Amino acid sequence: AKSAGGDSSAVYEVQMTGQAAGRLDLESDLRLALQRRELLLEYQPIVDLRSEVTVGFEALLRWHHPEHGPIMPDVFIPIAEETGLILPIGTWVLQEALGQVEQWRRHLPEAANVYAAVNISGRQFVARDFPDVVDAAVRSAGIDPAAVNLEITETVLMDQPGLPKETLQRLIQLGVGLSIDDFGTGYSSLSYLKWLSARTLKIDRTFVEELGRGPHGASIIELVLGMADNLSLNVVAEGVETLDQVNELRRLGVRSAQGYFWSKSMPSDRVPDWLDTLPP
Ligand code: C2E
Ligand code: CA
Ligand code: CA
Ligand code: CA
Repeated sequence: AKSAGGDSSAVYEVQMTGQAAGRLDLESDLRLALQRRELLLEYQPIVDLRSEVTVGFEALLRWHHPEHGPIMPDVFIPIAEETGLILPIGTWVLQEALGQVEQWRRHLPEAANVYAAVNISGRQFVARDFPDVVDAAVRSAGIDPAAVNLEITETVLMDQPGLPKETLQRLIQLGVGLSIDDFGTGYSSLSYLKWLSARTLKIDRTFVEELGRGPHGASIIELVLGMADNLSLNVVAEGVETLDQVNELRRLGVRSAQGYFWSKSMPSDRVPDWLDTLPP
């Protein structure tokens, strides 16, 4: 099951299928969602696998629709991408997430070194002014750029024929990090990863699920760890749900992880309690 509200949005998604009118409705509602403050960020902790200390938070977008209730990003992000609304929404996400995480870094001793992980869609990434948008958000938050990780999915990156080299160079200059999200689902080569100057690989949940399932369950993760080691990249395992998976990831030497085993995404006001009570 998904986090709070996931069930109702799943139902909604089913109802929406093939209903052009409903879809249009959602599209025009989404246009207003930002100014009506219906978009919110939740935060999922990323923990160090050995100490179980929280090392970062991934910002995950939620839409609290006035009539339909919570709608999950898998439903509305594609609409936002097609319509271009992802540009203003994405800018808001960056400002909000960086501002929030910097507040925690300043005011909560346990959060002094946490980083902010923010999802970036392909359309945002290729927009000419993207580095300016990131720069402005970093400055207005007052956050150390080294504490910012921009997550871009592997498939999105591979889809961009003329991947903006200037953008990459400017992001490196700014000092923010790049994470390759859903890693393993695309076809990145070593040389490509090096060219991207990525900082982190996020191993897709599907590979974590394979752990403990048969003799080759760990082989993809072992492969990824080998690549990451060669290029001095951090590795984060996603979608960790069971103690068996935790133990297996530790055995393999994965540094950090996130998943329901520790926590689902939570509203920002629950984060201080979360930091206070960990490790259990
Ligand atoms: P993602 O970036 O791969 O995010 C991880 C997704 O896995 C999240 O779903 C998270 O709630 C879920 N998850 C975390 N731990 C577990 C676990 O242990 N088990 C399972 N089954 N799932 C887990 P969510 O929040 O529904 O987000 C879905 C996708 O929507 C994200 O996938 C990301 O691609 C996109 N997204 C979310 N927020 C944003 C945003 O601000 N901007 C953009 N462009 N995309 C976003
Ligand atoms: Ca992500
Ligand atoms: Ca992912
Ligand atoms: Ca995903």
